[in-house]
Amino acid sequence: HTKDSGRNGHTFFTEAMHVSANRQLKLLQELRRAMQRDEMVLHYQPKFRADGGGVIGAEALVRWQHPGLGLLGPDTFIPIAERSGLILQLGDWVLDQACAQLRQWHDAGHPDWSMAVNLSPLQFASTNLLETVKTTLEKHALAPHFLTLEVTETTAMQDVEASLQILHGLTEMGVKISIDDFGTGYSSLLYLKRMPATELKIDRAFVRELEENAEDAAIVSSIVALGRSLQLQIVAEGVETAGQRAYLNELGCDLLQGYHLGKPVDAEEFLRNAA
Ligand code: C2E
Ligand code: MG
Ligand code: MG
Ligand code: MG
Repeated sequence: HTKDSGRNGHTFFTEAMHVSANRQLKLLQELRRAMQRDEMVLHYQPKFRADGGGVIGAEALVRWQHPGLGLLGPDTFIPIAERSGLILQLGDWVLDQACAQLRQWHDAGHPDWSMAVNLSPLQFASTNLLETVKTTLEKHALAPHFLTLEVTETTAMQDVEASLQILHGLTEMGVKISIDDFGTGYSSLLYLKRMPATELKIDRAFVRELEENAEDAAIVSSIVALGRSLQLQIVAEGVETAGQRAYLNELGCDLLQGYHLGKPVDAEEFLRNAA
């Protein structure tokens, strides 16, 4: 790094940045090894019908069972996987694993459950996405409508025309599209109208103080109205109390997710909880 040389020849590449860059590199190497060693695991969080009906399926959430540090959440390694491109490999693994799990659950007496998988921006921009999704569904003998791909507003906004093309390809295949963390990005209504999505997932920032904050309630209610008019299914995430649950149902949400209803758990526990 020859750039950024300072006045007296010292670089602006400070010690702190150096350490952090080293740590990142180490983390990346570890993550590569972790994938080879099968240390990645999926947890599953149930999605419930808001009207008090049962589980309709799950969202797969990746974790790293680190030998020294314990179970690490995606926020600790997804960013570096994304920056390094490793996310493509990790994403393929997540999709395959989630579909394999759904096939098992279908065979174990829950043939109507669906599976949601999160996509990162890089995966979304990858040219292989359509082919990978198609092959994976076929491999596990799953009809496409059982799979929902969750993309955040921000992800889908990065290259609008390219995104629309990919989304159309996926929906033509029969795969469902959820716009995750809705309300936190900057997508225009015009863009939303053009997006072939099937679901809006209201960000938990609007759910947290729903009962105390009239503005949040008004926002949720507007998103529900917007979603209705665009014929989208409305999901609320981050439901932590019985009060929020009742209110979100009253406001017209179709599906709910959150610690109050079910935390992300491993596949065995998910099945036990549903029984
Ligand atoms: P997300 O897709 O919006 O997932 C929801 C996050 O909220 C999950 O965190 C979940 O555990 C958490 N959550 C669920 N219910 C509640 C609740 O009632 N209260 C609170 N406070 N939190 C709740 P997690 O598992 O740490 O995942 C964080 C993010 O990491 C996800 O946000 C998603 O964007 C990303 N992610 C997770 N798995 C994958 C993956 O396989 N691939 C990619 N690309 N991203 C993933
Ligand atoms: Mg999600
Ligand atoms: Mg979300
Ligand atoms: Mg989120």
